Amino acid sequence: MDLPFAESYKIKVVESIKKSTRAEREQWIQAAGYNLFNLRSDQVFIDLLTDSGTGAMSDKQWAALMQGDESYAGASSYYNLKEAIRDLTGFEYFLPTHQGRAAENVLFSALIKKGDIIPGNAHFDTTKGHIEFRHASAVDCTVDEANHTETNFPFKGNLDLEKLETVLKKYPKEKIPLIIVTVTCNSTGGQPVSMENMKAVKAMADQYGIPVFFDAARFAENAYFIREREKGYENKNIRDIVREMFSYADGMTMSSKKDGIVNMGGFIGFRHQDDFDKATQFNILFEGYITYGGMSGRDMNALAVGLYEGTEYDYLNTRISQVAYLGERLREKGIAVQYPYGGHAIFVDAKAFLPQVPQEEYVAQTLAVELYLEGGVRSVEIGTLLADRDPVTGENRYPEKEWLRLAVPRRVYTNNHMDYIAAALINVFERRDSITKGLRIVKEAPLLRHFTVELEKA
Ligand SMILES: *Cc1c(COP(=O)(O)O)cnc(C)c1O
Repeated sequence: MDLPFAESYKIKVVESIKKSTRAEREQWIQAAGYNLFNLRSDQVFIDLLTDSGTGAMSDKQWAALMQGDESYAGASSYYNLKEAIRDLTGFEYFLPTHQGRAAENVLFSALIKKGDIIPGNAHFDTTKGHIEFRHASAVDCTVDEANHTETNFPFKGNLDLEKLETVLKKYPKEKIPLIIVTVTCNSTGGQPVSMENMKAVKAMADQYGIPVFFDAARFAENAYFIREREKGYENKNIRDIVREMFSYADGMTMSSKKDGIVNMGGFIGFRHQDDFDKATQFNILFEGYITYGGMSGRDMNALAVGLYEGTEYDYLNTRISQVAYLGERLREKGIAVQYPYGGHAIFVDAKAFLPQVPQEEYVAQTLAVELYLEGGVRSVEIGTLLADRDPVTGENRYPEKEWLRLAVPRRVYTNNHMDYIAAALINVFERRDSITKGLRIVKEAPLLRHFTVELEKA
């Protein structure tokens, strides 16, 4: 018989998690303004809020931590990280930052000005936030298949080349400082971008004289999908795929809290020295000196190890199989999820789950609250709350999809936890007809409102 799935690691340290009663959860979620970000972590049994910074470091990473060099300038930890980044991405220049959005802040300070246009594939929320904060615009050029939950399209993170070319033709080169390719594309469901698409985007960008930067938080998961799904890559080494991917970029921003498997950190990679030089002054101003930029020496050391572990085939196979295992448990019960499954999370189609709840009442948030009440599982809304208001009209922006994201932390939970999560959501599914009302906003911030919004029952 075929040998079944089993994790490619064993457990060395454990952390207790606490169950609660439904009555307790009802009280806690109301006090939290129906915003799961406002819950205390000990009010959560299984935490799928994010896969960002929530992974478990390995024994080798903890060992590297002890050897961190905390020198202000020229620390060996900086050189360890520089060498790992150069080896895996081919980028000669890099700047450490304290996390991914800090990398965006530094890079965009150097490149983006008011009125600019930044095409890309469903820009991540902080990316879009940093673009709009500079009074520039993010233009989404994702393929239409990204919005068709059940269409089996292998690369729903791809950019639509026609949409991209329309943008590149419409605006002068001076107005388009960069194209951002997000790998994998978080906002469409952790969906990968194909190598063919990256290559074509780069060729088109070169033709128009515009640089391409990757938002590379999940570059290793993207490489795994290329190996699984793209012709010609079946037998390739993950790290060779990674190197080829980055050969189609002029630079990258990285949230190391994802595929770097560390709890905090980020960086910017550059192919060209002039981009590095332009960004350096902002890094020193906002993050810290060139050789630490917002990170401790020990954290840079752990990241250097994490980047290698994150690009091991066995690790990626374990991770992505676990996410797919959760997806399968839901899909076999008829729950609509983004398919094929993405790398870091299962995205549940909340409009299909609760068709009777109007989008104006934040349907994915309503489902997130129900899942929490059912089993103490914390998930996150990727829908109207996240989409924010239009900066010009002040009106709610209603995205085509209302997703409930179940993000799986790296090397943290077992498949028993996946079964528990699935059972809780299936229970909600079975009583879905009784959920007729959603939520309404009581208080919100002008930008990135989903983090702090307060709601009440509609
Ligand atoms: C997480 C993430 C970011 C921002 O990184 P932080 O480390 O959370 O600041 C940017 N882009 C993508 C695609 C991400 O997933």
